[in-house]
Amino acid sequence: MTASLWQARGGRETHRFDFLVVGAGISGASAAYWLAERGERVALLDAGGVASGASGKSAGMLLLGTADPYSRVVELYGRERAREVWAFTRENRALLLERVIGDGARDAALGVVRRAGTMSAAVSEHELAEAERSLAWLNEDGFAHERVDAEELRRAYGSDALLGGVRDPAGMTVDPARLTRRVVAMARERGATLYEGHRVIATREDEGGVEVSTPSATFRGEMLLLCLNAYAPLLEPHLEGRVVAARGQMLATEPIGERVTPWGVYADFGYEYFWQLESGEVVAGGWRQHHADAEKGYLEETTPTIQDGVWGFMTRVIPALRGRRVTHRWAGVMGFSGDGLPFVGELPGRPRSRFLAGHTGHGFGFAFLAAKRLVDMSLDGAPVGWLSARRASLAAVR
Ligand SMILES: Cc1cc2nc3c(=O)[nH]c(=O)nc-3n(C[C@H](O)[C@H](O)[C@H](O)COP(=O)(O)OP(=O)(O)OC[C@H]3O[C@@H](n4cnc5c(N)ncnc54)[C@H](O)[C@@H]3O)c2cc1C
Repeated sequence: MTASLWQARGGRETHRFDFLVVGAGISGASAAYWLAERGERVALLDAGGVASGASGKSAGMLLLGTADPYSRVVELYGRERAREVWAFTRENRALLLERVIGDGARDAALGVVRRAGTMSAAVSEHELAEAERSLAWLNEDGFAHERVDAEELRRAYGSDALLGGVRDPAGMTVDPARLTRRVVAMARERGATLYEGHRVIATREDEGGVEVSTPSATFRGEMLLLCLNAYAPLLEPHLEGRVVAARGQMLATEPIGERVTPWGVYADFGYEYFWQLESGEVVAGGWRQHHADAEKGYLEETTPTIQDGVWGFMTRVIPALRGRRVTHRWAGVMGFSGDGLPFVGELPGRPRSRFLAGHTGHGFGFAFLAAKRLVDMSLDGAPVGWLSARRASLAAVR
């Protein structure tokens, strides 16, 4: 996507706010919510509409931790960092429940499925060993998880494709687009203004504040928060290489009358994932690990190779799906950081221009609280701890 000189000069209208938040996915929606909650005048801008990026394409699993299992994170970054990250995601989920999801009817409108929680399931002996180590450490560190053995999985799925699992009884799944829209609606109720169809093509900062240009308008503010995740490097070269775009593909089946999975499942080190809506549809995604190079970049198209791979996996795990109709197929773009964790920082030489990115396929586990940290840092100078873009584990991989 290129912008002409005329577009980059911005539209004639100029809008003034305290904060300009760019990107109306779960990150930007959350930042707008926390800012509006604190009485700031906020403009929330998106090139498309609310949840038009990954937040509307996601599987919607609200998981604790990272794509890597606890055992690996302990090995890579130490027990304390692992504990901190898991505690962060637990707090993120609790905050979402308290502020956004709620219970009863509100809950149902978001398609939230709690039933029996979420489960990381092993498809190899190696993964099973990691799961066992993770389970022991998770429970020692105060994250109550349960073992699911092969026999229980055989009974649940009618196959022996899953060798064992670690279940988070409080894990849940949600319609991610509706959740994001609800956060935006809550931000707007608190005074935030939404600008859809505003692709930001240039940003700048001077002593008086920040300015962003879209083809139809110019926005000025005290501060700019870029919440673009995978798309951030397309706007800000500083983030090139710090966030890497990769495609995730999913499918959904026709409604299935019987319950074919009691849990939201994350298998093969999180590369495969699926759950079943209350209305019976099974949503599933993954297979990216078998074609890693082809799945890099920004092309939001499905491919037969990945789609067949996902369906092959699903019908091996759940034979009851064989012969069922797939009604929806889609692709979305995720933003990966070098160390598997999101980060918050400021653009070099631009103290009023901040960013949150690098959710690494787990934005729903991190973004609501990470956006709060970004807002607290911007308003109060509060430290962001391990979320800092300057942390050592990120510097090491750059
Ligand atoms: C197939 C798939 C499955 C996933 N499953 C899960 C899961 O189960 N659990 C989980 O936690 N996470 C999952 N994720 C990851 C999760 O969806 C993301 O981490 C999260 O949505 C990132 O949110 P975000 O707001 O940071 O970015 P996005 O939702 O991508 O939002 C960025 C926004 O910026 C806008 N934008 C881009 N450029 C510009 C510009 N120049 N000007 C203005 N606006 C712009 C886009 O239109 C977009 O709306 C999945 C992702 C995919 C693709």
